[in-house]
Amino acid sequence: MNVHGLNLPIQYLKGVGPKRANLLKRLGIETVKDALYYLPTQYEDRRNKKTIFDITPGEIVTAEGSIVQINEIKTRTNLSIIEAIISDGTGFLKAKWFNQTYLKKILREKTKIKLFGKAQLDYRGNYLEILNPEYELVEHNLNAQTQDIVPIYRLTEGLSQKQMQSIMQSALEFAFPYIEDPLPEKLIKKLNFPYLREAIKCIHIPPNDADIKLLNEKNSDFHRRIIFDELFFLQLGILLIKQNRLCEKGISFNPKGNLLRKFFENLPFKLTSAQKTVINEILEDMKKPTPMNRLLQGDVGSGKTVVAVTAMLAAIECGYQAALMAPTEILAEQHYLNISSMLKGLPVNILIHTSSYNKHSNLISSGAVDLIIGTHALIQENIRFKNLGLVVIDEQHRFGVIQRAMLKKKGLNPDTLVMTATPIPRTMALTVYGDLDCSILDELPAGRKPILTKVVEPNNKKIIYKMIDEEIKSGGQVYIVYPLIEESEAMDLKSATQGYEALKRLFPQYKIALIHGKMSAKQREEIMKDFRKGDIQILVATTVIEVGVDVPNATLMVIINAERFGLAQLHQLRGRVGRGERPSKCILLPYKLTEEAKLRLRAIVNYSDGFKIAEEDMKIRGPGELFGVKQSGMPDLKVADLMKDQALLEVARKEAEKILYEDRNLKLYPKMRAYLEDFWKGKAEIFMTA
Ligand code: ADP
Ligand code: MG
Repeated sequence: MNVHGLNLPIQYLKGVGPKRANLLKRLGIETVKDALYYLPTQYEDRRNKKTIFDITPGEIVTAEGSIVQINEIKTRTNLSIIEAIISDGTGFLKAKWFNQTYLKKILREKTKIKLFGKAQLDYRGNYLEILNPEYELVEHNLNAQTQDIVPIYRLTEGLSQKQMQSIMQSALEFAFPYIEDPLPEKLIKKLNFPYLREAIKCIHIPPNDADIKLLNEKNSDFHRRIIFDELFFLQLGILLIKQNRLCEKGISFNPKGNLLRKFFENLPFKLTSAQKTVINEILEDMKKPTPMNRLLQGDVGSGKTVVAVTAMLAAIECGYQAALMAPTEILAEQHYLNISSMLKGLPVNILIHTSSYNKHSNLISSGAVDLIIGTHALIQENIRFKNLGLVVIDEQHRFGVIQRAMLKKKGLNPDTLVMTATPIPRTMALTVYGDLDCSILDELPAGRKPILTKVVEPNNKKIIYKMIDEEIKSGGQVYIVYPLIEESEAMDLKSATQGYEALKRLFPQYKIALIHGKMSAKQREEIMKDFRKGDIQILVATTVIEVGVDVPNATLMVIINAERFGLAQLHQLRGRVGRGERPSKCILLPYKLTEEAKLRLRAIVNYSDGFKIAEEDMKIRGPGELFGVKQSGMPDLKVADLMKDQALLEVARKEAEKILYEDRNLKLYPKMRAYLEDFWKGKAEIFMTA
């Protein structure tokens, strides 16, 4: 691609200049190339051309004629109306423009004009008229290909649709000779795509016989071609990054297996077959001399912790340290307690390291401890490991790419296992996580009962109190979750503290505790311990308990201000119950329901499967929001939509794989290689320098 041509700053394009360039910048258009990829948001079909005689009132038409009379009328409210009557010899058509006085200068008697809009009878039923029609001066339109399908662009203040259209035309005229096709002829033919030049041109100037529906859905062949390009170069880059990793040297873990055997013997339950499969995948991967980079997906409660511990023991048995990083202190504390008890009697030294427990980092650097559990505190600069061999990151969607990389850097190319309960749809798995290998726990331990989920209106709170009482009387425990700990800007928000006080008055016979993020770790630990033991019946909490907390006897979850929680959060919270033998319930108490909140609550009530819920979340919020595409370090997608273009993404992935299989450094495809480098510029090094 000729860099100079397409990279011309838009300001220097004919008809633009510095002032308009500033406006265009607001739309993200800084170069001619940006303009080419600034797609119309919709297309207007002006192909219904009629003589005035043939127009049926009510239809949307294009009509052409000469102005036979033109007047400006001022209404009593000082509104200006420009009224023109045009004729084509078969009849008369009136056009009325409101508050567009400048038209006086453009439109005169005898001017030939083309009008587009909805023709209606005027209030007396005498005249056919179009209110605020789109117009085109026929004599000015020297361009033979007068457009019948007109592109409509998103605008910014100070720029009219007509101006925008003409800028785009001029960008296209200028750039056309510079557009080079980065795809090989063979591939274009095979996929039945138009050439890039043609695709770009037809997106801005669709041929008169184009399918307007496909155009508007951004699903025309022209659109599909440029969407494919974007996805293809995205995949090509991701595959190259992965290919590079496979050339790195990591640790090959070959544990004898004694430690693992003892661990499995000690477990109070049998592994599910999904856990067995996944453990095998991980151990196999750890054996390889290249660094593992694996994602473990498993719904809330599917038993990821055991899998992680197994992997960590494999590293420890080989003489390395293993670290587990969790997103919150509570979760780290819980992992520490759980894992310590799982490993009772095994020769493994465990340490917790968080901002509250940070006195013993020397044990990490000396190698006195094998298994380190912690929070972000683990990635602080002063923390050194003796020989970190495996990094496990829990609830990975809470950590950014950078934090993951920082923990990894504490070792020398350690293996990495990231775990998430937010299932990653395939489109995301192929993009943001495209360089990770994936293991899936698609089975819950036996005996899990479905959780009854219900929305209760605030004026029915009594029902909730009754449920709480009954739940405790029959031996269960209750979580009550609030979104914030203190009264915030919103007056209608009941804080956890207030709720806690109210509950104490309501249920003096029960032991109730409040837990939140601003307490000291020690206080929280005490409370969690008492709750686990069953000494506390009702735990009022902020979302500190959102992830990971595991108390099987807790069977009722009440979520206050449920409308304030995201869908993934609701699913995580609900996952705190339904962990034991007793059937569990989750009650959602919303106060102010927006349309979006309604969709979220409906999804959580209707679905229990985390995968389905993530899919609904993508529909409501869009995949980028959900999976941090923007923070991921990937190139921005300008035209592709990861929800809509899944099928094309699959094709792009496959074709990218094929090309790399055939030619791993793209030596045979210099144009493709250059385009790829440009596409990933400033994002990632995709070709190894060596
Ligand atoms: P998550 O995948 O949400 O992190 P956990 O690892 O916390 O799930 O496991 C949830 C609960 O299920 C824990 O109490 C754990 O001890 C238990 N568990 C894990 N695996 C099994 C199994 N195979 N059979 C029975 N219970 C299991
Ligand atoms: Mg977990």
